[in-house]
Amino acid sequence: MAQIQHSPPSDFIREIIEDHSRTKRFKGRVATRFPPEPNGYLHIGHAKSVCLNFGIAAQYGGACNLRMDDTDPSGETQEYVDSIIRDVKWLGFDWEDRLYYASDYYEQLYQYAVQLIKESKAYVCSLSADEIREHRGTLTEPGKESPYRNRSVEENLDLFKRMQAGECEDGALVLRARIDMASPNIVMRDPVLYRIKRTHHYRTGNQWCIYPMYDFAHCLSDSIEKITHSICTLEFENNRPLYDWILDGLKTECHPQQIEFARLNLSYTVLSKRRLIELVRKGYVTGWDDPRMPTIAGMRRRGYTPEAIRSFCERIGVAKNDSIIDMALLEHCVREDLNEKAPRVMAVLHPLRVVIDNYPESRVEEFDSPYHPQNPILGSRKVPFSRVLYIEQEDFMENPPKKFYRLSPGREVRLRYGYFIKCVGVVKDPKTGQVVEVHCTYDPETRSGFAPDGRKVDATIHWVSAEHSISAEVRLYDRLFQVANPMGEEGDFTKYLNPKSLEILTTCRVEPGLATIKSEDRFQFERLGYFCLDLKDSIPGRPAFNRVVTLRDSWAKLAGQEKK
Ligand code: ATP
Ligand code: MG
Repeated sequence: MAQIQHSPPSDFIREIIEDHSRTKRFKGRVATRFPPEPNGYLHIGHAKSVCLNFGIAAQYGGACNLRMDDTDPSGETQEYVDSIIRDVKWLGFDWEDRLYYASDYYEQLYQYAVQLIKESKAYVCSLSADEIREHRGTLTEPGKESPYRNRSVEENLDLFKRMQAGECEDGALVLRARIDMASPNIVMRDPVLYRIKRTHHYRTGNQWCIYPMYDFAHCLSDSIEKITHSICTLEFENNRPLYDWILDGLKTECHPQQIEFARLNLSYTVLSKRRLIELVRKGYVTGWDDPRMPTIAGMRRRGYTPEAIRSFCERIGVAKNDSIIDMALLEHCVREDLNEKAPRVMAVLHPLRVVIDNYPESRVEEFDSPYHPQNPILGSRKVPFSRVLYIEQEDFMENPPKKFYRLSPGREVRLRYGYFIKCVGVVKDPKTGQVVEVHCTYDPETRSGFAPDGRKVDATIHWVSAEHSISAEVRLYDRLFQVANPMGEEGDFTKYLNPKSLEILTTCRVEPGLATIKSEDRFQFERLGYFCLDLKDSIPGRPAFNRVVTLRDSWAKLAGQEKK
């Protein structure tokens, strides 16, 4: 297993930036931005872009802006803006006072459009959306010029003003760049720059009824903010000539370099806001922050740490070719981070009652138990021990197979941080025959964990005191989808949702210290995995825990198999 790299990673984007530094392009300055559209919550794919943009700025002594790319009023909301701000902050990045909104540039963008019209680089077109599509041509055939392409500058200025003033129906007119209908790159065949859309905007209200298209707004927003490196995902590669055409045409002072990288795809989930919105709207999950969601809010609630997510993003690196990253790698990063810092505590998910026949009824002892055997800095706590305990059902078998070393009639085990106990009898439910209570005796000489006569036990099991432990709900999560690539399968992607992605256990018992925690601290429940308090669903006296990740590192195993 590769260790976390602590030296800054190198990749083709950093090489381009270092090259620009050498040649003094941008005068050695580095300015990046993370430009989400506030039409959904951020997901782990966005985290890759956040880490890349903020990471590069920090590494080269530059700055990274947070910009809401809010140029399409439908679907954009303040709730999404708030969630984006919260999530980027939580991931550990700071944009200082550089929070910008593309919608703040509407007036400036409008003036840029006027300038293009004046220079005969843009025209108002009266073709319908369908007609524009028909005129566009195909990959093998050139497009046809619009009959409105040669309108005079005056007419274009007048019509554009009317579009802006709300004198025309939605879709009646559009502003188009006058480039080349025969260009081999379809993006360059007189793309639409502005359309009429009478939709309320969450920030500008009804002030505007024309809205700039992404390709027009994005390059100019970058230029206005004096960005040097405009890093985006691969699907914008064909749009780069347009990005450059607009900035060249307007002779803007700042002309950033667009650089494309492969977006993150993750197995067993979907990373597209449109699909995630569908999961939320149709109730397949409880919300954007459902712990099964690949959103930052979901992962946070699940108990993933920002450190683990950043380490994951660093490890996957950036490349130019699309691939699907194994979800197990992300889980590995979470496990690796929590292994170091999560306090160890005891919890029983499926309780089985154990009575220690020779332990005095009213006696209670407190066992001083370290929170982290390898990390004494985390300290210790006192765990109460009494005559009646709960252990995990699966740690007892009445008729064990040969290799079962835990508790069974006549067998002795050690209780974690406590005594040796030996099973001397069971009580069964007369109807079902199921063992409902196990009777044991303890050896008072084994408090230290060793028997004075040197005898050994083959297993140590976890436990809680029945009287002192508290009741808790625990949620166990599995993959959201049953197949690695739900979008690559036939039919609707929701068909492949995993019906067993959530299991809720309502009869769990946890050690008493966990009654008072309030934060989203994570714990290792010994032998069971890492768990995190669910702040939303916990109620006083009855905490709810989410299992962050299991203890087993299946990724390391898989990687090992591949090597063979
Ligand atoms: P989605 O496809 O999920 O709707 P989007 O690209 O439309 O995402 P934006 O809000 O426009 O979402 O994305 C903001 C930034 O995050 C963009 O620069 C985009 O390139 C980047 N980004 C989005 N998805 C991914 C991904 N899966 N991997 C890496 N970067 C991504
Ligand atoms: Mg987008």
